[in-house]
Amino acid sequence: MTDPAAGTRPPAVARRLPGWAKRRTDVLREYEKFNADRRKGLPPVLWPFLAPDPDRYYRWRVQLDCTCITELMTPGDQTPPSERQWRGLGDGEALPTGQLYCWHDDSGHAPYRTIVGWRERREIAFPADPVEPPEWADAEVWAVIRHDDPHTSAFWRVTLDCGHVEEVVAPTLDWKPDDGPRLADTTRVREMTVEYERLWASDPTLQPERQREHTRRMLAAGWPRPRSEQLCHTCPHARRIVACQGVGCLVPRDSKP
Ligand SMILES: [Zn+2]
Ligand SMILES: [Zn+2]
Repeated sequence: MTDPAAGTRPPAVARRLPGWAKRRTDVLREYEKFNADRRKGLPPVLWPFLAPDPDRYYRWRVQLDCTCITELMTPGDQTPPSERQWRGLGDGEALPTGQLYCWHDDSGHAPYRTIVGWRERREIAFPADPVEPPEWADAEVWAVIRHDDPHTSAFWRVTLDCGHVEEVVAPTLDWKPDDGPRLADTTRVREMTVEYERLWASDPTLQPERQREHTRRMLAAGWPRPRSEQLCHTCPHARRIVACQGVGCLVPRDSKP
């Protein structure tokens, strides 16, 4: 995955970071316990690739652009963590090179990003909606949006121009990316544009500005389905590694037989 802004940013520097690394023996014990659990679900032939011995690991401390300092381990060679790809939240998608997921409560809103690639597709079956409206909808709205019958929707994983991955719903089950977006009737789009502007003028608190800007862009584009942009929930928490400090091997070389 390429990070569009990667070339314009300074590379991570190697330097001594404030504070101290965890005790090696603690980290080793933690890894061995984690790896023993992981190996239970894997045939031994895959262990060297998916659950390697601890002596393959090199330890690092890294600082992120949010100033947090954390520890990482890299298998194989000593390519610094800033030149590798790490997974997002949990066992999530690979982030662009040199980024790490670091959650902060005050990281801000998910921004809209343009969809640049379509990946895997999956179908999800939904039961018929209950007749009684849920708490968040009043009876009139519910009567319009409620699905009377069980239905199935297609979801596509998409790559955004920030390099992160999200999922979007397709307009129909048989829609394919090659079909391109379906546009709304142009007269209807003109009417909607007027309706939206009137609504926003009448109630300035109705939607935040970034939401309005998104709606304006979609109206200007002919109200495409699927949308050409999607909220990126990874962007606010994807942080760049700005400094690395090599700590040493997880298993000291001279302790090997
Ligand atoms: Zn952080
Ligand atoms: Zn993003």
